[in-house]
Amino acid sequence: KTFEDCSFSSQLMNAIAKQAYEKPTAIQCQALPIVLSGRDIIGIAKTGSGKTAAFVLPMIVHIMDQPELQKGEGPIGVICAPTRELAHQIYLEAKKFAKSHGIRVSAVYGGMSKLDQFKELKAGCDIVVATPGRLIDMLKMKALNMSKATYLVLDEADRMFDLGFEPQVWSIVGQIRPDRQTLLFSATMPHKVEKLAREILTDPIRVTV
Ligand code: AMP
Repeated sequence: KTFEDCSFSSQLMNAIAKQAYEKPTAIQCQALPIVLSGRDIIGIAKTGSGKTAAFVLPMIVHIMDQPELQKGEGPIGVICAPTRELAHQIYLEAKKFAKSHGIRVSAVYGGMSKLDQFKELKAGCDIVVATPGRLIDMLKMKALNMSKATYLVLDEADRMFDLGFEPQVWSIVGQIRPDRQTLLFSATMPHKVEKLAREILTDPIRVTV
């Protein structure tokens, strides 16, 4: 398998080439065709597998396919991750591919001023990368409008639950329209995560690396 098989735009292919990603990793080979086809997915994969690009690249395609939505103030893509560090890594990876497409990425996690985040979100964003607690804070402050969000990623779902974010994750999912595409990544699938997957994903395909 190659990135050419994915029918990415030339800008996206250039951005991939710039990262020196020569060929897709195992999780990318399995996940990219499924996610690009619009299906929900459960990815059993660890950090280091290249899972970030497996959900970020199709997210860029999803957003580019809906240019009318990009004029709005609210995000189209929402990514939740358990820790600041992971959210920041995802933010950097998303920015690499979003930049050349004029797609706006915002980071929403602790350690940054809430007021600055509020202002940034109010100015408009297409992708939000967030930790669950801070995203809930921003939703309560009405810093962002989730009515246009149609692509949701829960990354390291097992760790989000281990860190006590179970109620926040359920609350966030409940605020995003049901006709969204949903991607759930987890290194392990304990009972609680299985239950989440069963309830929030639609006819998902499961891939394991
Ligand atoms: P991740 O598992 O998403 O945290 O990715 C682990 C590392 O692999 C990151 O530094 C990525 O930039 C890098 N990476 C992702 N996809 C590829 C690829 N297809 N080829 C080479 N490196 C990659």
